Amino acid sequence: MTKAYAAQTASSPLGPFEITRRTPGPEDVEIAILYCGVCHSDLHTARNEWRNTLYPSVPGHEIVGRVVAVGERVHRFAVGDLAGVGCMVDSCGHCASCAEGEEQYCENGFTGTYNGPVAGGENTYGGYSARVVVKESFVLRIRHDEKDLAAVAPLLCAGITTYSPLRHWRAGPGKKVGVVGLGGLGHMGVKIAHALGAHVTLFTTSPGKVADGRRLGADAVCLSSDPAQMAARAGSLDFILNTVAAAHRLDDYLGLLKRDGTMALVGAPEHPHPSPAAFSLIFKRRSLAGSLIGGIRETQEMLDFCAAHGIISDIETIRMDYINTAYERMLKNDVKYRFVIDMATI
Ligand code: NAP
Ligand code: ZN
Repeated sequence: MTKAYAAQTASSPLGPFEITRRTPGPEDVEIAILYCGVCHSDLHTARNEWRNTLYPSVPGHEIVGRVVAVGERVHRFAVGDLAGVGCMVDSCGHCASCAEGEEQYCENGFTGTYNGPVAGGENTYGGYSARVVVKESFVLRIRHDEKDLAAVAPLLCAGITTYSPLRHWRAGPGKKVGVVGLGGLGHMGVKIAHALGAHVTLFTTSPGKVADGRRLGADAVCLSSDPAQMAARAGSLDFILNTVAAAHRLDDYLGLLKRDGTMALVGAPEHPHPSPAAFSLIFKRRSLAGSLIGGIRETQEMLDFCAAHGIISDIETIRMDYINTAYERMLKNDVKYRFVIDMATI
């Protein structure tokens, strides 16, 4: 039996729970989990905000740990190695998306690290647990210094979810990029966009985060609740990465884009955003887009990029039994900037 923390229903707090992990098969890697980041998706799932939660729900998809066993056909990992696991643990492997290394868009539905295959099937249990067994092809190599391990965990979701769209829409030198929301994803978005060489403007609703925005790499910070600050930036950005976890008026941000600019949504709120006005799009031929995590190959590329640029997450390490309080603080935008569970406390 493996120790874990689970939500038993949408309204019950998370608490101790025992799960069974499979015995590692020939292609499997067994990892003793050292740290697991706390993503807002964990909260959406534990509370059934997306109406698809399988219970008991063991969230957690920002996993880092040490390899404790490998199957006979595993070649890239050995016992004692550090390893990471993100949001996916399997996909069909043969559709066009999988063939292109974009397993997150698997046409037959990838298998989430928690909450099972997106196309339906048996539940899977995530990283709020002592151990996990994962197919080698979904295990990531960690090249950061071991002392930073806890702060590497959030890269496995918050890192890749921001890196992938920033690369896809070519954030880089000469580009003006906006990042909306300074939470777990947003603070990684600011760091990565800055490291890619873009000019970064952070949009935050929290006056207390303005100074942090600059420290994290933003060239400018705009308090989005101030209409004058927003109006001053109308039509100025090439690309906006919107990480907000709650429904809000998208028109306020679409108006900040230049002609042909794009805003990509990565935030996945419980309730739909009010529909943007057609005029927000048609007058400057703007696009509204979305992006889902990133493929395994790109996740490794992101981890290596962050290791090379000295990028880790700004974290608050917590005990496992603090998780319910952590969720309440997340809902108050009171996280600087990612909670990470020390799995020794489970
Ligand atoms: P988080 O740490 O809670 O950060 C969200 C931030 O959004 C907050 O810190 C806050 O920033 C801002 N915000 C919250 N409520 C707002 C409101 N009503 N109006 C405007 N801004 C608001 O959450 P996270 O872990 O970064 O996740 C963000 C969202 O992305 C979640 O919905 C999550 O499920 C989703 N997600 C999507 C993917 C994907 O693949 N697309 C992957 C992971 C997560 P300020 O205080 O700066 O305003
Ligand atoms: Zn996540």
